[in-house]
Amino acid sequence: MKWPLSPAEVTGDAPLAPWTSVRVGGAAQWLVRPTTPGALVQALAFVRDEGLPLTILGGGANTLVGDLGVPGVTLKLPAGLFPEELDDTRLTLNAGSAIARVVTLMTKHQLVGAEFLAGIPGTLGGATAMNAGTKNGECMTVVDALELATADGLGWVSGLAYRYRHTELPAGAVVTRVRFQLRRGPLEASREAMAADLGYRKRTQPLSQPNFGSVFTNPEGHHAGALIERVRLKGHRVGNACISTLHANWIVNLGQATAADVEALMHEARRRVLEETGVTLTPEVKRVGRFERG
Ligand SMILES: Cc1cc2nc3c(=O)[nH]c(=O)nc-3n(C[C@H](O)[C@H](O)[C@H](O)COP(=O)(O)OP(=O)(O)OC[C@H]3O[C@@H](n4cnc5c(N)ncnc54)[C@H](O)[C@@H]3O)c2cc1C
Repeated sequence: MKWPLSPAEVTGDAPLAPWTSVRVGGAAQWLVRPTTPGALVQALAFVRDEGLPLTILGGGANTLVGDLGVPGVTLKLPAGLFPEELDDTRLTLNAGSAIARVVTLMTKHQLVGAEFLAGIPGTLGGATAMNAGTKNGECMTVVDALELATADGLGWVSGLAYRYRHTELPAGAVVTRVRFQLRRGPLEASREAMAADLGYRKRTQPLSQPNFGSVFTNPEGHHAGALIERVRLKGHRVGNACISTLHANWIVNLGQATAADVEALMHEARRRVLEETGVTLTPEVKRVGRFERG
């Protein structure tokens, strides 16, 4: 294949498990890591012209990669594609940067507004695509505009529709920059809120074991974790994957778990919760690539 990128930007048969927080799954047929905005647009044009499947990977903190790998191109953005900008209370950051970056810079510049993002792993691209958040707020409520890349180039958009854990991005668009609208406000309260959130995470989440955060979204009027606990699946294990004993809506990798192990647990949780409570669980985690079970 004649790539319009430098050899350092394209890796064939690249294992993806190390790029995900749960550390399972197979290899990308092509892992593409463009180092300039121009290379990114060229890569997207190549993907379109060659008819290759495209998978966008951020920090892999909400992604389950299939054991049989990901066909086509898996695209991963670096953190330093563009310079960061601060204009009064508007902060523009790279989509490939860690979510922690907005929290760090917000605090440094004595701004408030994005406290609920503290402690959420992954990248800003993933946080906007997923509309990541907690009961205290959602990412897209503090986003003023997104810069998107397609095969035709780069452009800023605002006013995209979003809902719980989902933003309506145009198909195939890659978020390249995120402009946050923060504000001036009580700094002490902001720091206390973040410290409280981090303490809560440490107490209630199995952070020392590889995982991908909440497995299922919370169904209207329910907590997914409470439902899975109610059907007695806390601690249930398939292969080397286990429903966390600390939080039933989390699956942890005990070491060398496969995507098939994780999927079998998810299947069992959905089956038992539906049978015993009548509630349908919807995965929050994004499955990418090919799985044994199809
Ligand atoms: C310990 C732990 C705690 C967590 N706590 C929370 C929490 O409190 N709240 C919460 O909402 N989530 C939480 N999560 C889940 C995860 O952190 C978030 O969903 C996060 O936003 C994922 O970002 P990512 O970059 O890792 O996305 P990935 O997993 O890489 O991708 C997720 C989705 O975003 C898309 N995407 C990624 N980057 C881009 C881009 N640049 N352009 C377009 N699409 C893109 C991907 O294609 C995929 O569909 C947690 C996960 C872990 C491991």
